[in-house]
Amino acid sequence: RAARRRYPAQAIVDLAAIRDNMRHLVDVVNREGDRTAVMGVVKADAYGHGLIPTALAALAGGATWLGTAQAHEALLLRRAGIGPDRAHILTWVNNPLEAPYRELIEEDIDLSVATTTALERIAAAAREARRPAHVHIKVDTGFGRNGFTFENLPEAAGALAALRDEGVLNIVGQWSHLAVADAPSNADFVAQTDAQIARFEEFTARLADAGIEPRIRHLANTAATLSRPSIHYELVRPGVGLYGYEADPDMGSPERYGLRPAMTLQAQLSSVKDVDAHSGLSYGRIYLTEDRTSVAIVPVGYADGIHRSASGADALGALGERGRTMPGGPVRVMTKEGPRLMRVSGRVCMDQFIIDLHGMADDLGVAIGDTVELFGPGRGEAYGEPTADDWARAAETISYEIFTCLRNRIPRLYE
Ligand code: PLP
Repeated sequence: RAARRRYPAQAIVDLAAIRDNMRHLVDVVNREGDRTAVMGVVKADAYGHGLIPTALAALAGGATWLGTAQAHEALLLRRAGIGPDRAHILTWVNNPLEAPYRELIEEDIDLSVATTTALERIAAAAREARRPAHVHIKVDTGFGRNGFTFENLPEAAGALAALRDEGVLNIVGQWSHLAVADAPSNADFVAQTDAQIARFEEFTARLADAGIEPRIRHLANTAATLSRPSIHYELVRPGVGLYGYEADPDMGSPERYGLRPAMTLQAQLSSVKDVDAHSGLSYGRIYLTEDRTSVAIVPVGYADGIHRSASGADALGALGERGRTMPGGPVRVMTKEGPRLMRVSGRVCMDQFIIDLHGMADDLGVAIGDTVELFGPGRGEAYGEPTADDWARAAETISYEIFTCLRNRIPRLYE
């Protein structure tokens, strides 16, 4: 704990939670005795949790695949010693023009192919490397982003089959991504997902017509892994669930899904002082104290990835960014009487924000240097235990953005 004091703030990552979340996801997909494999989606530095420690924890929990959006993260996994004997790695390579395809092929990393440009580059790299590239054909079933369409698939399928026959490609998978799987209670969204599944099956049929029968199909993100057993196919790709969250926070607490949030974000108060009633706090004075009170400074701000949109505006201050009062992001503060939920009061600054303690620090027993918790694995702010979902609500975003935005100024510490 002494070491933590060297930092103004720290994100503590519970690797056992990541391992257990993966174990749970592996159990979920194999409940019916199917043999579905699980990919730990560790893109974007494992959603801000740290690529390598997270990948190792996911493998310890039973993942047999790892997935990244960018090529360099796939290479980092191999360089960290996660060899092909330990994990299949798929990278979706969102930047085919710059992708180091040859190196990826030499490192036995599976590649998504979503455009003819990518296909040409992968084929050229495989020829150079004198070994086949393992590819997963991405099809656009309605996300509108990456993937072949019914329109351009026939041409691509011809090229894919020819390259396979030439020994340049090993066609491993067919895959796609769901747009609205995260709201199983919304009938429109369920219908949209059904339509995506129908198109996915249609792509399978059309590929088969072209003589292509990928061994592995994968479509499910966390939400579909948890709620749609019929589309687990041979592989699922949960991301946010690995970190203990559900895509749709309104579906209830993660506990309901057997998941446990892995990250706890803490900071040490850098100042505590008393101020008069009607004192303006921070830029723009969107928050004015009601009574004489103490305020504390939390030394993290938007340069650390704390969303400025989680600023707090009260009725006494000028109105907030959105022209209304806004409850700021929650912070759990230990007082003499136990933990209390305080909130960002006023605008989040670049390097710090202020919280109104709604009482005098001496009475509360709150002092400079005290550790406060912005979010952790608790039950939610209603219980005085804020989570990343609560920060997402305050900032009008999603938990994914809360953790992926945390900058390297906040060290990740592992336990
Ligand atoms: N598959 C792909 C292609 C993705 O881009 C993502 C993340 O956005 C995932 C799977 C994991 O999704 P989730 O974090 O919702 O489980």
